[in-house]
Amino acid sequence: MRHREAKQKPRPVLIRHGDTVKIMSGRDKGKTGRVLSVDPVKRRVTIEHANIIKKHTRPNPSKNIRGGILDKEGPMDVSNVMILCPSCGKHARMGTKILSDGTKARTCHRCDATIEN
Ligand SMILES: [Zn+2]
Repeated sequence: MRHREAKQKPRPVLIRHGDTVKIMSGRDKGKTGRVLSVDPVKRRVTIEHANIIKKHTRPNPSKNIRGGILDKEGPMDVSNVMILCPSCGKHARMGTKILSDGTKARTCHRCDATIEN
């Protein structure tokens, strides 16, 4: 039988594709950007125009891809970014609550506003 996980279950990733986030640490600290993709399993997010990495690509004429070095957004840890609340405009921690119709919504810890998913 498997042992029970000793580690505490991590908080669910509350960042969604299309959110605007502020980068709190790392090379692009202080920048804000739109979320391009979220990987809830690896707990990583890709932010528009942030954490630019050099991607080396091979030419592929059938897909019309030129070879060379390409600037591309790289994923970063979700703990490095915070959601910018569309209601109060500040970066804030998010919580969840169950609405009266049974759906789950995200709420801002600063202003208590409900954020559309
Ligand atoms: Zn707020």
